[in-house]
Amino acid sequence: MANDRKTEIPIELSSKLPVLPLKETIVFPYMIYPLLIGRESSIKAVQNALLHEKYVLLIAQKDILQENPEARDLYRTGVIARILQILKLPNGIVKVLVEGLTRAKVNRFIRTKGSFTQAKYEVVPESDQITPQNEAALRHVISQFKEYVLLNRDIPDEILLSIESVDNIQRVSDFIAAHVSKRIEDKQMLVEVASVDEELMMLVEMLQQEKDILEIEKDIDDQVRGRMQSSQRNFYLQEQLRVIKQELGEEDDSYNELGALNKKIKKAKMPREAKNKALEDLEKLRYTPPMSPEYTVIRNYLDWLLAIPWNKRSRDNLNLITAKKILDEDHYGLKKPKERILEQLSVMKLVEKVKGPILCLVGPPGVGKTSLGKSIARSLDRQFIRISLGGARDEAEIRGHRRTYIGSMPGRIIQSLKKAGTKNPVFLLDELDKMSMDFRGDPASALLEVLDPEQNKTFSDHYIEVEFDLSEVLFITTANVRHNIPEPLLDRMEVIDLPGYMEYDKLEIARRHLIPKQLNENGLKKHQIKFTDSAILGIIRNYSREAGVRNLERSISNICRKIAKEVVLKEDKGQFVVTARSLKKYLGVIQYSDKHAESVTQIGSATGLAWTEFGGDILQIEVTIMKGKSGLTLTGQLGDVMKESARAALSFIRSNTELLEIDPDVFEKNEIHIHAPEGAIPKDGPSAGITMAVAMISAFTRKPVDNELAMTGEITLRGNVLPIGGLTEKLLAARRSGIKTVLLPEKNRKDLSEISTRVTRGLQLNFVGTMNDVLKFAFRNGFTKKRNTVS
Ligand code: ADP
Repeated sequence: MANDRKTEIPIELSSKLPVLPLKETIVFPYMIYPLLIGRESSIKAVQNALLHEKYVLLIAQKDILQENPEARDLYRTGVIARILQILKLPNGIVKVLVEGLTRAKVNRFIRTKGSFTQAKYEVVPESDQITPQNEAALRHVISQFKEYVLLNRDIPDEILLSIESVDNIQRVSDFIAAHVSKRIEDKQMLVEVASVDEELMMLVEMLQQEKDILEIEKDIDDQVRGRMQSSQRNFYLQEQLRVIKQELGEEDDSYNELGALNKKIKKAKMPREAKNKALEDLEKLRYTPPMSPEYTVIRNYLDWLLAIPWNKRSRDNLNLITAKKILDEDHYGLKKPKERILEQLSVMKLVEKVKGPILCLVGPPGVGKTSLGKSIARSLDRQFIRISLGGARDEAEIRGHRRTYIGSMPGRIIQSLKKAGTKNPVFLLDELDKMSMDFRGDPASALLEVLDPEQNKTFSDHYIEVEFDLSEVLFITTANVRHNIPEPLLDRMEVIDLPGYMEYDKLEIARRHLIPKQLNENGLKKHQIKFTDSAILGIIRNYSREAGVRNLERSISNICRKIAKEVVLKEDKGQFVVTARSLKKYLGVIQYSDKHAESVTQIGSATGLAWTEFGGDILQIEVTIMKGKSGLTLTGQLGDVMKESARAALSFIRSNTELLEIDPDVFEKNEIHIHAPEGAIPKDGPSAGITMAVAMISAFTRKPVDNELAMTGEITLRGNVLPIGGLTEKLLAARRSGIKTVLLPEKNRKDLSEISTRVTRGLQLNFVGTMNDVLKFAFRNGFTKKRNTVS
């Protein structure tokens, strides 16, 4: 049969045929194959073939990307084929059905310019002689091919039937060659073989390789499938188990669990959106094997949805008289903050909604910010929750992580509401000024949404996904210092200052609140222990240095604990009296001998007033002038602003040497050293400006500064005194430290009306507008005599 066809080939007729370059396939003899032809030259070649009894020479291109292949781009062995059918497709492409006839070797390519390639060729003779060797090889190839086809899902098994019906050895091996491997290079090698024996040997090798690859593919496939099947299998087994249990009349836990969840969801009074989401996820749960990680993830999510107080609220019990009573009961003093809180509560009562700016309690630690929050909750009969934002640096802390993260959870707002169990608690956001921000997003902007009454109706947590209405929550915020609160947040808040307590206040707070509270917490009865006033003052002065009463409370608690131990150990039924003397026994050595102003007047030293987040403090500034290279040295952990203000003070002095009676040359020959003791504590801010100027002037002129005088104010180069912040805290510190006279910037005079006279009582306050005024108060003898001792 095959030989019949070969005789048709017009070897004698013409030893020249049009060449059809092939890009992506190779047609073997006896194969019928459709080719899609688009290239102009190829179409011309086909047209030419139609004139020459439809024969073409199919030759593969070496580089399939080559659009216009020349002789060197084509292999030199190919297959002569006959065109069986031509079909023009609408897009200009021609579909040509060809039948491979026999291999041919090209002797020479002939290319007419702008036209197609032709080739002179000779037919490669076929051998169909069967020898024991090639017979054996053929059988081996056939059996390998069968295995290959069974492994290969791209080749239909029926193909094996075709082989059975062919008896020509060359035909069989070409048939197999056409189906082995997809690589053009491999196929070309099979076309170029010198004999059928060589072709068979090559096939043995290629089939083996292909089979190996298929085996590996199958392995991978099986593994993936196995994994999937085992989870499906688990699911079916679980289902079967459930049915069996039902048959036996036993309860099925997971089934019950889902049923119970369903009931809970329906009862939870969730908003529609949340309910739909919950039911949707419950449905998912039904088809998830209970042992799988997804089950736990969905289950956790549902638990969260169920735990959020969507619709639970406590009934407000808003009676202003009780509210006032409770605030007074819990706190001594704090008149202004309490008034402002009562105002807010009255507005709430009138508009029946939490509206208006959010209260922000600002003050040093231990002044009662948190406990005011608690009292507000108590007076409203609402739940109280508190989160500290100190160190929060990630938006996710507020809003949670999306469920795609492993172990993700809602943010702290939702977590706290779950804890509160109602949707209208008093929610204290502590340490608003301690938030930071990094690449994960800004917690402040998330908070903005939480606090803004326009937006917080539809607060969305990344984990929960469903919106939650925060508008009934009464938010209260706290901070230590106002200027560290992010500006946009500050805009929405009304700041209430709690600057700190005076000694007298602390004594009262200890007596009325802290001591009874600590007795109670340590299981002691009132008659068992008595603190004398001098003991309390001793603790205030020597064991705590603070604007608030936190350490005072801690020390009282320490004492109570120790006494409780003695009561138990010694079964002592008498009364313990804590006196100033016995403090050492309970609290150890004195920790702070209260910083007092210098006891004698000193040269080169002045007392300033500083303000830190722990309240006010006095700040000693020392200056020495040493012979040597000119320059200014600053020590004692002074911040940049403070250093600059020291330079400004020095420049003021240098430009006013005449007034100050200082020899202008001294600056060239002397080094100035400014130091602020307690070097371990960082200090910054501009308000020590006039203090540094005074200390320097004193050092240069050798005139002493009044030791009972403290001052605060920023200095300008022209010697003007600018206003400062933290006035109350600074005045409190001055009083604590035994200062008699304080110099304050003239521009702070207006702030005095805000400050209770109890703070200023006993202090001589002098207001200064320029350095001239400062000098008048700081140096009693003024600058009349020329008495320059530094030169
Ligand atoms: P803050 O939140 O400002 O750091 P806290 O509210 O935690 O301070 O107060 C610390 C302790 O001092 C609490 O036990 C609080 O009850 C008590 N305390 C503070 N101020 C007063 C006050 N004016 N009257 C009674 N107790 C007070």
